[in-house]
Amino acid sequence: MQEPSIPFRFGNSYAEELPDFYVESDPMTVEAPSLLQFNTPLADELGLGVAELPSQDLALIFSGQKLLAGSRPLAQAYAGHQFGGFSAQLGDGRGLLLGEVAGPDGRRRDIALKGSGRTAFSRGGDGKAAIGPVLREYLIGEAMHCLGIPTTRALAAVATGESVYRENILPGAILTRVASSHIRIGTFQFFASQQRWDQVRQLADYAIERHYPHLSGDEDRYLLFLQAVSEAQAALVANWMLVGFIHGVMNTDNMAISGETIDYGPCAYMEAFSPDVVFSSIDQQGRYAYKNQPQMAQWNLTRFAETLLPLIDEDKPERAVPKVEAILNDFTLHYEKHWLAGAQAKLGLETSGLDIDNDKLLVNDWLKLLEIYSVDYTLAWRRLADAAEGNLEPLEALFPCSEVLADWLERWHERIAKQAAADSASRMRAINPIYIPRNHLVEDALDAATNDANLEPFEKLLAVLSHPFDERPELARYAQPAPENFTGCYKTFCGT
Ligand code: AMP
Ligand code: MG
Repeated sequence: MQEPSIPFRFGNSYAEELPDFYVESDPMTVEAPSLLQFNTPLADELGLGVAELPSQDLALIFSGQKLLAGSRPLAQAYAGHQFGGFSAQLGDGRGLLLGEVAGPDGRRRDIALKGSGRTAFSRGGDGKAAIGPVLREYLIGEAMHCLGIPTTRALAAVATGESVYRENILPGAILTRVASSHIRIGTFQFFASQQRWDQVRQLADYAIERHYPHLSGDEDRYLLFLQAVSEAQAALVANWMLVGFIHGVMNTDNMAISGETIDYGPCAYMEAFSPDVVFSSIDQQGRYAYKNQPQMAQWNLTRFAETLLPLIDEDKPERAVPKVEAILNDFTLHYEKHWLAGAQAKLGLETSGLDIDNDKLLVNDWLKLLEIYSVDYTLAWRRLADAAEGNLEPLEALFPCSEVLADWLERWHERIAKQAAADSASRMRAINPIYIPRNHLVEDALDAATNDANLEPFEKLLAVLSHPFDERPELARYAQPAPENFTGCYKTFCGT
C-alpha cells in the first residue's frame, strides 16, 4: 500500500508520544473512489508534493486506499459533554488521523480522513459520510478561512462510489481535513473522567509543546495553558459573532484547544439579525443559539479547567480553584475586548484613544436597529461602507424607511468625523464581507452534487467565497439573502 515515488513523508508525534490516546485502525476499502475536489493551494502550502499527481491517484490517497510513506492511521480517543450531558467515550467513530505534516512554514498539521469507515470507537453508525455533509464542511471551512478566521480546512473530497443509508440512500464520500491538531477539550476529559492524571499530564505537555511552546518551560505552565486556550477561544467566538456564524454543536468534543473552528455539522450563517436564532435541528432547547455562543464557550472551558486542576496543584487540586476561576472569569473580558474591537473596525471606527463607552453604545444601538427591522446582518455592515462614502441609498433600502436610521447615522457620522484616519469605506470593505455561505446557496450546491452528480454550483460558490470581500456586480445573486419561504423553515442537520 506504500507509494515510494512521492518524496513526502508523514510524521507521527501524536502516535509516538501519546500511546494511550488512540486505536490504530485501517481505512475501509472503497470500491470506486473518484476525486470530487482537491485543494491545490492548500496542498502546496503544506508542501505535500502531490498536486501534480493524476486525479485517480489523488482519489486513492485521499480515500485511504493508498497510504503515503510514514502514515499510521489511527482513531483518536475522546470524551465530551454533548448538549450538557457527559459521554465518557466518544472518539473518532468515522474519522482517522493519517499522520502529521510539517509544512515549509514549519507549522505541524494533522491530515485526517472523515467518513473512512468504522473504528473501535463507532458504537453505532457505519463510520461513513454522505457527499452533502462532506462538501458542506469543505465549503464552509474554506469560507471561514478566507474570512480570516482560524479553522480546520479541507484538502480533498473523494466520492466512494458507494451508498450510505440515512433517511434516504445517499452517495458516500470521504473528506480529508487539515487541522493544526485534532486535540479537543473532550480529549482531556477522556482520561480526566477516569482520574488517570498521568495521561492527562502527558496530553497537556504534548499540547503545550505543539500549540503554545513558549509556555513549556514555565512552572505555571498548566495554568498558563488554560489561559492561552481560553484567550484563543474567546477570540474565535468573537470572530464568529462578528460574521454571524452559528456553530450549532459547541459540545466539548467539538472545541479544539488550538482555537480553530472544528466540526462543521449543523452550522449556519445568520441572515436577518436575530440573536436568538438557532439553526440546528438537534438543538431543541436553543443551547447553542447565536447569542449563547460566548457563554457556552466559557462553560466548555470550565469543563476543560476541571481536567487541569490536579496538574496545576498536584497535592491539593482544590487549592488551584481560585486561580482557575480568575482565568475563567477573564474569558468574558477577553471576549468583549475582541468583539468590541472587531465591531468598531466593522463600523469604520478607529479603536484607539476615543470614548469606548460611546462606541459600545453606538454598536449596540446599530445591532438593535438590525434586530428590530430584521435586517440582513452581512449586507447591513457592507452597505454601511457605502454610507461612509456618502452613498446612503443601498443601506436605507435594507430598512423599511430612511427615517428609522437617521438618528443613528447622525451619531455615527459625528463619531467618524472625530477621527484622523481617512478612507473608512475601503477599510470597512476589507473586513465586512459581501459574500458569506448563504444557506440557500449552500443547499442548492449540495443538492446538485448529491442528486445530479453536478459539482458546478459547488465550485462556483467555492470560488465566490474564496474572495469574500471583493464585490463583483455579476455575482449579485450570491450576496442576496434567501427567499422568505426558505429561511422560515431552514434547519441544518448533523453531518453524519
Ligand atoms: P460529530 O458529529 O462528528 O461531532 O460526531 C459525534 C460523535 O459521533 C463522534 O464520536 C463520531 O465519531 C460519532 N459518529 C458520527 N457519525 C458517525 C458515523 N457515521 N459512524 C460512526 N460514528 C459516527
Ligand atoms: Mg465532532
